Amino acid sequence: MKITVVGTGYVGLVTGTCFAETGNEVTCVDIDVNKVNKLSNGQVTIYEPGLEKLFERNLKEGRLHFTTNLAEGIKDAQVIFLALPTPPGADGAADLSFVLKVAEQLGKIMTDYKVIVDKSTVPVGTADKVRAAIAQNCKTEFDVVSNPEFLREGVAVDDFMKPDRVVIGTGSERARKVMGELYAPYVRQGNPILYMDEKSAELTKYAANSFLATKISFMNEIAILCEKLGADVDMVRRGIGSDDRIGKRFLFPGIGYGGSCFPKDVQALVKSSADAAYDFKILNAVMDVNEKQKLFLLPKIKSYFKDGLKGKHFALWGLAFKPNTDDIREAPALYIIDALVAEGATVSVFDPEAMAPVRQVVGDKVTYAEHQYTCLDNADALIIATEWSVFRTPDFDKIAHTLKNKAIFDGRNLFEVERMQELGFHYESVGRTASK
Ligand code: NAD
Repeated sequence: MKITVVGTGYVGLVTGTCFAETGNEVTCVDIDVNKVNKLSNGQVTIYEPGLEKLFERNLKEGRLHFTTNLAEGIKDAQVIFLALPTPPGADGAADLSFVLKVAEQLGKIMTDYKVIVDKSTVPVGTADKVRAAIAQNCKTEFDVVSNPEFLREGVAVDDFMKPDRVVIGTGSERARKVMGELYAPYVRQGNPILYMDEKSAELTKYAANSFLATKISFMNEIAILCEKLGADVDMVRRGIGSDDRIGKRFLFPGIGYGGSCFPKDVQALVKSSADAAYDFKILNAVMDVNEKQKLFLLPKIKSYFKDGLKGKHFALWGLAFKPNTDDIREAPALYIIDALVAEGATVSVFDPEAMAPVRQVVGDKVTYAEHQYTCLDNADALIIATEWSVFRTPDFDKIAHTLKNKAIFDGRNLFEVERMQELGFHYESVGRTASK
């Protein structure tokens, strides 16, 4: 099939590459000239495990093309995916301007039947708006489909190639057939393609992300309670997670969720609810808890350094909002940096993949270490903000000898408290007894 993906970011590039992998001919369109040039020259613009190999293969085989020209990019396409940004607007609602602008342009340039697919995360009713924006100037038949994307950054390629489910929202039999055919190779193991109406498909994506964010904030509050009552959140997590109705996944407490999706999607669903005259109480609490959780370690750090943080130097391991990605959007680490610097401290940072994007955002507010251990030089303590595997079994001798104080503040519960006790570290984490 001939496919066009408009927007070549995390979702667009993975979508385009993975559709090419099953033999489709894919053209990716982006307005970012620099990005398109890099991609056309064989340079992958994001870090995503497994993507580079697929990208190189499909580029070489001539199944992947890149352009900044929308008209040229969609000329032969049967299906056009919109993988455009939907950032939060000033009022918290999803900003649909990127999506609707492209929809309007499409109406002017389409000359034969095409299926336009909303892959961006968009509020209920967007498919109608996209249809109207296209129809303003359109002389040909077309269908609009809602096909929200559930991939997770860090395992995006696996998620796309073997999705738990594919959600397709459409009332058109013709579009349904096209979409079914396109996705068939990805659900061979028997995972479902769930056909539904557009509105339900649109809401499914927000409901999924909001539910997962709720799980995280719930566990973060349980962790707070554990510390107050002397319980251990790891035990509680195992205790509840072995109940099938609850499940083991997504029960890890920490220093809050971040990324480009959960914060904005929870906020957007709250706004959609308010617009529908409904006060979504749980989600308001989920957001409140998360805001506070990002700086959960700060009072612990302050109470350890009784003479204040002014003049102190911290090593910060982990900048990406989660491991296996270079995405730093809404990353808790950035909030920690701001808070420490505001207290008069200095910070040295290390992340296996996210140094360059942080440099762009934070500039010389921090120093950038070449290595996780040189990051510790002259530091008064180590703070951990992302659970990269490479941080899980570090050389504790080296840490102890390099840090000025044997103090670790771990926002991701990477180490066993007893072990840290044996090693003589002052070790504080989330929802567990501190080792002092
Ligand atoms: P992104 O910011 O990484 O990528 C968006 C791309 O669109 C950018 O490359 C940008 O240059 C391009 N763009 C902007 N305007 C354009 C235009 N007029 N024409 C062509 N290209 C244009 O965003 P993303 O993370 O890929 O997210 C895209 C959508 O998918 C969002 O709605 C997001 O909520 C949703 N989503 C994201 C994820 C994720 O993990 N990142 C997962 C599921 C769904």
